[in-house]
Amino acid sequence: MAEFLDLEAQDGVRMPWNVFPGTKQESTQCVVPVSAIYTPLKLFPNMPILPYSPLRCRTCRSILNPFCIVDYVAKIWICPFCFQRNHFPPHYASITEDNLPAELFAQYTTIEYETPTEKAAFPPVFLFVIDTCIIEEELVYLKNALSQAIDLLPDNSLVGFVTFGTYVHVHELGFGSIPKTYVFKGSKEISKDQILEHMNFFAKRPGVIAGVRDGLSAESIGRFLVPASECEFALNSVLEELQKDPWPVPADQRATRSTSTALSVAASLLGACVPGSGARIIALIGGPSTEGPGAIVSKNLSEPIRSHKDLDKDSAPYYTKAVKFYEGLSKQLVNQGHVLDLFACALDQVGVAELKIAVERTGGLVVLAESFGHSVFKDSLKRVFQSSGYELDFSFNGIFEVSCSMDIKVQGILGPCSSLEKKGPLCSETVVGQGSTNTWKMCGLDKATSLCLVFEIVRKESPESIGPSTNDQFYLQLLTYYQNNNGQMRLRSTTLARRWVAGPGSIQELISGFDQEAAAAVMARVVSFKMESEAEFDPIRWLDRSLIRLCSRFGDYQKDSPSSFSLSPRFSIFPQFMFHLRRSQFVQVFNNSPDETAYFRMILNRENVANSVVMIQPSLLSYSFHSGPEPVLLDVAAVAADRILLLDAYFTVVVFHGMTIAQWRNAGYHTQKEHEAFSQLLRAPRDDAEAILKERFPVPRLVICDQHGSQARFLLAKLNPSATYNSSSAPPGGDIIFTDDVNFEVFLDHLQRLAVQQ
Ligand SMILES: [Zn+2]
Repeated sequence: MAEFLDLEAQDGVRMPWNVFPGTKQESTQCVVPVSAIYTPLKLFPNMPILPYSPLRCRTCRSILNPFCIVDYVAKIWICPFCFQRNHFPPHYASITEDNLPAELFAQYTTIEYETPTEKAAFPPVFLFVIDTCIIEEELVYLKNALSQAIDLLPDNSLVGFVTFGTYVHVHELGFGSIPKTYVFKGSKEISKDQILEHMNFFAKRPGVIAGVRDGLSAESIGRFLVPASECEFALNSVLEELQKDPWPVPADQRATRSTSTALSVAASLLGACVPGSGARIIALIGGPSTEGPGAIVSKNLSEPIRSHKDLDKDSAPYYTKAVKFYEGLSKQLVNQGHVLDLFACALDQVGVAELKIAVERTGGLVVLAESFGHSVFKDSLKRVFQSSGYELDFSFNGIFEVSCSMDIKVQGILGPCSSLEKKGPLCSETVVGQGSTNTWKMCGLDKATSLCLVFEIVRKESPESIGPSTNDQFYLQLLTYYQNNNGQMRLRSTTLARRWVAGPGSIQELISGFDQEAAAAVMARVVSFKMESEAEFDPIRWLDRSLIRLCSRFGDYQKDSPSSFSLSPRFSIFPQFMFHLRRSQFVQVFNNSPDETAYFRMILNRENVANSVVMIQPSLLSYSFHSGPEPVLLDVAAVAADRILLLDAYFTVVVFHGMTIAQWRNAGYHTQKEHEAFSQLLRAPRDDAEAILKERFPVPRLVICDQHGSQARFLLAKLNPSATYNSSSAPPGGDIIFTDDVNFEVFLDHLQRLAVQQ
């Protein structure tokens, strides 16, 4: 394990297979795909930033790196990807074995280049799109949260406002004293040109092409996008006058909410004003969209919002049309280089499932909360803008590129990016996620954004491929061009070398390079993708079959003897990860709404391995008088009357008091001097929970509950049902879980039996 963490600390990469299966056939037998979870902008405090442009191979354009073979006498470097011999340019003339440029140092496999830009970068733009079809109480919460957020905006950033309900209003902020808005009908699809014409963008200059920045005067842009430092008054007056949508809503109807039209107007406004510059649409939505091309449900309240069952049976009449609309919007935003962030705050679904495509393809953030008053929303919004350098460290306009050794191809990326459809020799015919390309757009990315690259080994079995070879290395180069939050253009380059093995004896080497946590994270993304993209896909069957095949290939056993079965420590917790993945929110979707599922998967698809593992298999800590906080098994047997449990399920953090603890607390013992130890015991898990909340985005929901209380379900649902109502003996803690799910013991039993039969 430790060595995989070291590799991550050096390059921001984790791979299920750190020794690669060397042939197509071997890689198929490995079941878990050859893949990598990569965090392109992971913070490395000691990483050098080189103030010049990189040297590129003249054939394949990959960048000079520590794996190149260098001839110091002839001043030549050999590209490890295509074996091209490249001459060093004159300014590298002084290079010798003892005088290397930083990009050739063995430890700098990840390095950044900063090329000076001629023109000053355009400041970041934040365009707020605000739903006004919400009750007064929610509106008050929303205004408070927004005015706090605006206070935190960096002074040079530009801000704009669009509000919507039945109609869409674009607010002109540039003329503080006379507030002016442009109004659009919410039900109609409007083209970009119509929008611009309506807003008098070209009144003085007819015939100017929209989308060309030079075509728009700074004055035109300044009407709608104003510097945060100058617009406090104008913004506050818009906020103060912000009213609930005035159109009456009959008791049996939903409000007329034209979310999609508002987003379309916002995208076109940015497209006209700041194409190609870093800009975010921040959508704050308080209910289901009922009007326009992206409506998810009719206005009639008797018609329920689509469920997973409806989607499964193809009986969600609005779904396909809405997704198609947002796919179009995502293409527009990707072309413009702009991001869509979504804050969905309602008890109802709002259409996250339909909007997912536009958020994910632009690298946007998503937060789902019950109300604009909930800390999940308030604290997350604050986190976006907090501190001088932004807590999330937003970067913009990313382009991500991959190079591989010639025996590897790329199937695609599962994660927040968009394929630029640049087909080349390294694209696989099989497409997973965003594929058919070697270049992807990442409109928005931050230090946490993590992509999952899925590879294919295409090397055929041949006598050379299984015998010992002089060159048993595969190389990958991952390049990320981006604009950092200071507006500087950077290029992050990560070059990786992994050994490949094939033929007899390779199993032990493959085992030694297996990172089971990375494998679990990859399997979670792959199963989620298959559930969304393959009709009739049975996730449980697929996961079970994959696990059985993996165990029969890498387990140690005598054929047909289940009791002889054992797994190397490298694989030993993988079955447990798969057990919890089967029961997780990613696979058991019927326990949630389509909006919640979309939300969980969008977060999974942008997080690193450690965080993904917590989403799949929550962590559980126990606090008692007998011992300090200690990790305990995620099993119902962990529940005890004299314990406090802290469950971290990533989206939810639960502090669960055993019955006795709850009684003592209700009796107020913790306030008495002689029970100081009890007071400390009560406080410790709360402090630890706060620490988790502080560092995570979106901010998780905190649940404080007692054994047998109604909120206890947040804990119980995550525990292995080792004791259920089917069990004959009562469990020690007195809690049983009402479920027909198999428990882990039975699961493992089946697994061993089936694995030894293969
Ligand atoms: Zn090359």
